[in-house]
Amino acid sequence: MAFSFSKSNLPKQLFINNEYVASKHSKKLEVFNPKDASLVANDVDLAGEADVDAAVSAGEKAFPAWKKLAPTARRDIMLKFASLVEEHGLALAELSRITLGTPYEPFGKFEVGACAEAFKYNAGWIDKFAGESFPQDDGFLKIVRNEPLGVTAGIVPWNGPLGTAGLKAAPALATGNCFILKPSEKTPFASLALGPLIVEAGFPPGVFQVLSGDGLTGALLSSHMKVRKISFTGSIPTGKRIQEAAAKSNLKRITLELGGKSPAVIFDDCNLENAITWAANAITANTGQVCFAATRIYVQEGIYDKFAEGYKKALEERAQAIGDPEAATSVMGPLVDKAQFERVSGFIARGKEGQGTLLTGGSRIGDKGFFIQPTVFTNVAADAEIHTEEIFGPVAVLNSFKTEEEIIEKSNDTNFGLMAGVFTQDINKALRVASEFDSGMVGINCVSLMLLSVPFGGSKESGSGRECGKDALQAFTERKTIMINMTY
Ligand code: NAD
Repeated sequence: MAFSFSKSNLPKQLFINNEYVASKHSKKLEVFNPKDASLVANDVDLAGEADVDAAVSAGEKAFPAWKKLAPTARRDIMLKFASLVEEHGLALAELSRITLGTPYEPFGKFEVGACAEAFKYNAGWIDKFAGESFPQDDGFLKIVRNEPLGVTAGIVPWNGPLGTAGLKAAPALATGNCFILKPSEKTPFASLALGPLIVEAGFPPGVFQVLSGDGLTGALLSSHMKVRKISFTGSIPTGKRIQEAAAKSNLKRITLELGGKSPAVIFDDCNLENAITWAANAITANTGQVCFAATRIYVQEGIYDKFAEGYKKALEERAQAIGDPEAATSVMGPLVDKAQFERVSGFIARGKEGQGTLLTGGSRIGDKGFFIQPTVFTNVAADAEIHTEEIFGPVAVLNSFKTEEEIIEKSNDTNFGLMAGVFTQDINKALRVASEFDSGMVGINCVSLMLLSVPFGGSKESGSGRECGKDALQAFTERKTIMINMTY
């Protein structure tokens, strides 16, 4: 099975047991290109109950041999897969771009890189994550094994189809689980296209499968009695549904990576240029469709005016590079689809009706597709909708503050807790504030970034559990304690 997919040869079938097979479900997915709202395909397979059962059965059959495979053999398959993803990176990014609308540089390339690097990183853990032994002189030798769970699944959103897939698939497979990937109904192609790479890398049939589908497919996986773990990235309401389905079925393990409304706190004594760059990147990367984007910007009074001027200028410069995602000059593309465009435009329109003062942006670009200007509101009340809700577009609110105590309270006054940033050249203050944030991740003199080697995830309603780092492997394993009596 050679990789030959492109925008004129799209993968549309389910990938089960190392083969493309037609769905048994009658409904098909319709997929659109956000640059001009054109229909890309209306015949992409949707996995229904029989298809989900077939994939889960194939996974169950493959599991005993896969978990017992020599660690070096599993590592080599993972590394080969990573190099194949890199080799076909441009084509995969194109398959993602046709429905997500993100230009290759920088976000499309980042996405492919994150997927490949996740496989390399987790491959490196395979022979270092078997468990531990405790040889104290208390009469018992203790061994703790990290054991795989069985058939696991990753349900991912549309805003990073390949990156989110890699973050889930790689630790699942590295620890000896079988894995079913369920991409978003809005962006199925890059995931479905992994089939030939899965085969060429050497994953045995049933170990790594891809089921395109919508909420129905996700719900079938979440409530399946033979699926042992769901790693989910997406919205809070869906995360709650998955948690409920897990509780009502087999108490499967779950990891939830959900939404955010992350603060960036910028003190008078920061490096202003650095703070402006990170704050501007935060809402323009992937057109602001990033869960850990810093969208609440708080600047201390002494530098507020200078910051506002520089932030406005930086965003207006970036707006110049908004355009056709296929053009080499474009850095920022459209929002993903009509629904997202209407949602973001609605927040902006209501924001203009008295929730704040428009500093920059606020309008659609062109009349075709879903392009929108980076938009910032200032003087926004704490309880205004644009201040409290995740917008998931290139929109931020900018407010000033006076004291450290005040800004910690304001930053934490939210049900979200994914990421926070603090900008200051006083390291004591930075560490003090970092320890006070109610969030899973904090950047000091940076914000809205993800590094594969350290835990990624949120507190409060931003989720539970962690991806990345060693935590991701732990999340796909069960600890088994073996106690050996050494006294007779
Ligand atoms: P979504 O919740 O609508 O969909 C996500 C996935 O869940 C899709 O694959 C969808 O088909 C599936 N799904 C829908 N209903 C389901 C159900 N009942 N059971 C199981 N699966 C179901 O989210 P979205 O609109 O695709 O993504 C945007 C959201 O994702 C935003 O809130 C964003 O903050 C969040 N997100 C979070 C992270 C993170 O790491 N924390 C990263 C990216 C996006």
